[in-house]
Amino acid sequence: MVYLVGAGPGDPGLLTLRGMECLSQAEVVIYDRLANRSLLAHAGRAELFDVGKRPDCHPVPQASINALLVEKAQAGRIVVRLKGGDPFVFGRGGEEAAVLAEAGIPFEVVPGVTSAVAGPAYAGIPVTYRGMACSVAFITGHRADFAADPSGDWRRLANAADTLVFLMGMAHLPAIVEQLLAGGRPPDTPVAIIREATTASQQTVVGRLADIVERAAGVGPPALIVVGEVVGLRDTLRWFDRPDRRPLCGLRVLNTRPADQAAELSRRLAALGAEPVELPTTRITPVEDPGPLDGAIQQLGAGDPPHARTDWIVFTSATAVTFFMNRLLELGHDARLLAGVRLAAVGQATANALRSYGLAADFLPSRQKGRDLAAEIGDVAGRRVLLPRSDIALPDCADILARRGAHVEPVVAYRVRPAEPDAPALAALLDGSIHVAAFFSPSALTGLAAMLGERPLAQALAGPAVACIGPTTAAAARQLGVRVDVVTPHASTDGLVDALVEWRARQATG
Ligand code: SAH
Repeated sequence: MVYLVGAGPGDPGLLTLRGMECLSQAEVVIYDRLANRSLLAHAGRAELFDVGKRPDCHPVPQASINALLVEKAQAGRIVVRLKGGDPFVFGRGGEEAAVLAEAGIPFEVVPGVTSAVAGPAYAGIPVTYRGMACSVAFITGHRADFAADPSGDWRRLANAADTLVFLMGMAHLPAIVEQLLAGGRPPDTPVAIIREATTASQQTVVGRLADIVERAAGVGPPALIVVGEVVGLRDTLRWFDRPDRRPLCGLRVLNTRPADQAAELSRRLAALGAEPVELPTTRITPVEDPGPLDGAIQQLGAGDPPHARTDWIVFTSATAVTFFMNRLLELGHDARLLAGVRLAAVGQATANALRSYGLAADFLPSRQKGRDLAAEIGDVAGRRVLLPRSDIALPDCADILARRGAHVEPVVAYRVRPAEPDAPALAALLDGSIHVAAFFSPSALTGLAAMLGERPLAQALAGPAVACIGPTTAAAARQLGVRVDVVTPHASTDGLVDALVEWRARQATG
């Protein structure tokens, strides 16, 4: 079975639900250069084939792609052929379907959002508009398709529709313009060139038939050429590339948070116009031997009167709260086990995690560092303090508490491990298309370093701006030789997003 799936124009949010479903069932995915790599994350463990046509290397011949499709399908695999935009709008999807039909292989076509419509839309240009444009034509600007009489066709199409959208036309822009003028389209007809539409690299150049060649000099593929009065609507309908409303537009931001914690940052970034690229560099796992953690939890309920033994539980991360409380619930207890125990949270996110279990933090330090928490928590001399934390926690919080006379009981509640690299996201970092890399912990940096193997971390991070949450992470970055451009005073997602907006504004003004 082969699914010919439209990947949409670039923005991964423009994949259809059906397309995502097909990807999640795929055993083999054969994808193009124009299909956003991040979509492959939906493909689970499928075998991946990149048949992308890159300018620097020879394209995979169409015959080989066809043969691969047939071979994998005949081997009984579920194959997704992932194509940029819509599979049946140029790009030879129809030919691939014909090959499958010929070979008797069942297939399904999952239409996609074509760049021919979505590209103009993201530039603020509706391809039709009541009273202005009641027809639109999609035209290939690839001369080879007009082998018989290349120039004649564009001339013939000059007035074929109110709006003309050329795909694959950048190499022949001067010839296209010349032929449209020769075909009777007025020189003052508005034209837009939209490059890498719907991505953080989207670039739009507007002009008229008379001057667009000059204005668009240096703009290469992939781009759309939109011709017609509707182009003028961009002045009022522009929305995507609007720094005033979407202050992070044009930025591709690497989100290195663990997979199950990445969503919030990605959502906040996207809402402000940035394109998040998720590259989890660590993964959080339960402890192998829960014995010590279970012991610490059981001890809370022991003693007479109950809880006499533990005065404080100090949480230095939201993850510590989650693992500690989930284990407590798994053991058959509930929040009442903590009655009478005071709770300290390192910051608001940690306090919010407690809140989700119906618990209020009794103490938050002035700065979100374990060290400050330990120094400010009040009189702990002679008190028993339970400290559930990760296996790689810094010792400073426990040390300071102990120096202040507390009986500190550190217990490992979860483990932090380097993550397996996500190939497309790592490639994006290494090929220079990331503008900002965001780190939420020292382990996010060491996790990336582990992922890079031989390649030095500082070198991989020399291109993008580096943003660190809180001073501890920034210090760890500097220690690893990484230049830090943005540090947030508070260790929270909001703090990071606000700091990025400020940083961007500073960049823009000078
Ligand atoms: N099936 C695709 C088109 C494939 S032909 C679709 O429906 O969109 C390839 C051409 O599509 C490129 O040369 C370019 O003109 C256009 N294109 C595809 N994605 C684009 C994008 N994100 N921005 C601008 N043009 C794009």
